[in-house]
Amino acid sequence: MHMGLINRYHQWLGLPELEPVTLGEGNTPMVHWATWESHRIWLKLEGCNPTGSFKDRGMTVAVSQARCQGAEAVICASTGNTAASAAAYAGRAGLKAFVVIPNNQVALGKMIQASAYGATILAIEGNFDQALQAVRDVAEQESWIALVNSVNPWRLRGQETGAYEILDGLGHAPSALVLPVGNAGNISAYFHGFRRRNEGIPQLFGIQAQGADPLVQEHELDEVKTVASAIRIGRPASAHLAKEAVKESRGQFRSVSDSQILRAQEELAHGGIFVEPASAAAYAGLKVLYQKRLLPQGDVVAILTGNGLKDTQTPAMWASVEPQIVKSQYLTESIGQFMNP
Ligand SMILES: *Cc1c(COP(=O)(O)O)cnc(C)c1O
Repeated sequence: MHMGLINRYHQWLGLPELEPVTLGEGNTPMVHWATWESHRIWLKLEGCNPTGSFKDRGMTVAVSQARCQGAEAVICASTGNTAASAAAYAGRAGLKAFVVIPNNQVALGKMIQASAYGATILAIEGNFDQALQAVRDVAEQESWIALVNSVNPWRLRGQETGAYEILDGLGHAPSALVLPVGNAGNISAYFHGFRRRNEGIPQLFGIQAQGADPLVQEHELDEVKTVASAIRIGRPASAHLAKEAVKESRGQFRSVSDSQILRAQEELAHGGIFVEPASAAAYAGLKVLYQKRLLPQGDVVAILTGNGLKDTQTPAMWASVEPQIVKSQYLTESIGQFMNP
């Protein structure tokens, strides 16, 4: 039985009494992927959440809280996954959802999700950072509408549960955690989650995409460009928290190129794990850290943040959607040719 994160981690979340809005989020698989010399590599499959990304961990708490406080609607700016998650949880809660996206910048699967769940999608001419500023202004003016971006502290509290699950799964803290960084909420939530549990803190490695790597460049960016649309962000709202998390855990920020991201996505998929490009960035970063001998020994966990089916255009850059046409009466021979080309 899936009880949802609010009940499951009641003890650690310490939330005020509220009626949970849950879709059975969390409890995602952590797969032992490989052992590279002294490093045991684990992949946490956050694409297995109800709407296909880790955003659900925070959304269950944020939407429960919003409903409890009498909100009639939720609003968010989104590169796609927050929109899908907000739409689903608002639907479950009986609230309206408004999602504001940068026009033509969101993967189709995420648009379909948000729309199917019943959200109103509003597109602005501009980037994610401008969309976020606009929804912050709306939420400030209108008390009946709750902002559910990761600047909402309840979102980050919910996302701490990723750290709890890793601790419960391994029985101890890993030596390193590698995850993609966009608006920088998730890396901050993991840091606080590990700190709250007081069982050790892994070195935190935040991976950005080259072209959208303000935390590596150490200054905000007005123009951002990468195939990894979920982390196409130039002004991370939680930059200050993320910098502290990386510094205190003796980790670092690094960036990977689009071609490294696509190769990582292909390698994972050929091993049975299909993730979206932002998540593949974490794996690409993990490989660079290993090659540069920057990984500590022991258990290393990479957070694979979102499901590959959300964005089918990007993998079409390396995977063919054209089937091999064969004659049914020669199927055996055709298969033989593929086995021994
Ligand atoms: C939101 C998101 C990220 C980035 O998380 P932040 O908290 O914004 O840093 C990474 N990958 C995926 C798939 C996401 O949806």
